[in-house]
Amino acid sequence: MNTYKKILYLFNNTVDYDVVVHNCKKAGIDAIITNDFVFAEKEFQEAMRVNSIPVVYNFPVFCDTGYLDRNPQSYSITATGKRATGTEWLHFVCPSDSAFMEYQQNNLISILKTYNPETLTLDFIRFYVFWEMVSPDTQPVAIEDGCYCDRCLVNFEATTGVHIKEKSKKWIYTNIRKEWAAWKTHHIEKTVDMLTQIIRDYNPDIEIGIKTVPWKESDFDNAISHVVGQDVARLARYVDFIAPMTYSHMVKQPPQWIDEVVQEVSEKSGKRVFPGVQLAQTYRDEPVQSDELNAMISYAAQKPAAGVLIFHYDTLVDNTHRFERIKNAGK
Ligand SMILES: [Zn+2]
Repeated sequence: MNTYKKILYLFNNTVDYDVVVHNCKKAGIDAIITNDFVFAEKEFQEAMRVNSIPVVYNFPVFCDTGYLDRNPQSYSITATGKRATGTEWLHFVCPSDSAFMEYQQNNLISILKTYNPETLTLDFIRFYVFWEMVSPDTQPVAIEDGCYCDRCLVNFEATTGVHIKEKSKKWIYTNIRKEWAAWKTHHIEKTVDMLTQIIRDYNPDIEIGIKTVPWKESDFDNAISHVVGQDVARLARYVDFIAPMTYSHMVKQPPQWIDEVVQEVSEKSGKRVFPGVQLAQTYRDEPVQSDELNAMISYAAQKPAAGVLIFHYDTLVDNTHRFERIKNAGK
């Protein structure tokens, strides 16, 4: 079992990795979490190995821009009939696309064979929603989610025996929300089961985490089920830890909300919980004030959280005060 307390996101492969190591030591970072485009860099691997900094491999499941460039028919379709593209980096594949799942299973096997990571997180293993931009006053029925493609609607009807009389989010939300939520959460659970089995079969010692959308059951009328399709109580049996992306400033919540989400995820899952903490503003013009940052870090680092996922390297090195805050977190 890993004992990391402070795990830092690195989304930049144009940095000097020896400087990254130096900064990690300065801020008391225990591990780095990153995606393939950094992980694949030989210099990165070498710098981490020589300095004994563990690396967590983050595997994005349904967010795959490259695949969608080649296979645009695999896009998730949103409630308003558009391709699921929240922003430049967010392009979402339809979770019912079996050809994509086959591709992704092979992709995962190849990653395991190439890197055999100590720890791996499953990211974007859910239905489409650009939750980062959903503010607390949004009406649940107005959330632009996915997937409403024919594949998904047929899959839903065949699995549940429930007929969709009108192919609209409004009709589904109003008339069959419970069945829709059950189908989505079951579909995601099956996907998590399938991928974690591949990982366990390859190497049972790999620790597996899952990234989750930071919505409580009471948020948006239980949208964590009927929009996202993530049920942490059920997903807990497949993974070792859960990482809700609790970026409070981004979603216009007060810092103590981080603790509320952590408590709920911890109670429902019984697993170690690693909340996310953002260091600077994202998708908003208002900066994160110093007091707010302190409070966010304190709430994220306190029990029952097992550790924090810090978002992210570039914003850490941007401001020397943040080093001290992170170094002292949890003390
Ligand atoms: Zn679909």
